[in-house]
Amino acid sequence: MTPPEVNLKRPRVLISVEDLERRITELAAEIDRDYAGSEPILCIGVLKGSVFFMVDLLKQVQTPLQIGFFQTSSYGSSTTAGEIRIRKDVDISVRDRDVLLIEDIVDTGYTLRTIMALLEFRGARSVKLCTMLDKVAAREVEVPIHYTGFQIDNVFVVGYGLDLDDHFRNLPYIGVYEGDVE
Ligand code: 5GP
Repeated sequence: MTPPEVNLKRPRVLISVEDLERRITELAAEIDRDYAGSEPILCIGVLKGSVFFMVDLLKQVQTPLQIGFFQTSSYGSSTTAGEIRIRKDVDISVRDRDVLLIEDIVDTGYTLRTIMALLEFRGARSVKLCTMLDKVAAREVEVPIHYTGFQIDNVFVVGYGLDLDDHFRNLPYIGVYEGDVE
């Protein structure tokens, strides 16, 4: 079967560059306040979608920190819904560390639930979650979110790291994709 074409027309703006900048400054201040006096934070991004958000956010955080990355993917639809595969594992030990997970978007919640359980199993001292976007209405499993950039409706968004078939990541804003997603 031929895959559907990606509509490369410029997506309509949902969250502007200015709104992203303003919110990221607020989030960085909250993180600094919460982690004041603590040992260096281990900030772990979930590739690839969180990269643009993570870079802009962490440049504004003053608290000492280190970074690492996970990359995940869902198994095919033939297996259990919500089963997540770790494609790239974090390369720093998380034992006794204060971990701040940085994600682009929480949708069903399966990805973050899996990663948080893994970090706790490996002995992280604390695990907090910072997500740029939260699609509350799409949630299938609960995950505790400590820092949220924006709550959005259940629409497919691209830009600022978020992709469709790896397109659109470099859009400076968050847009709504107008076309078929599947
Ligand atoms: P979850 O496991 O919470 O369902 O899915 C999280 C992942 O699904 C995100 O990291 C992201 O890769 C993808 N995702 C969910 N919703 C969207 C969306 O609206 N746009 C894009 N580009 N990816 C999404």
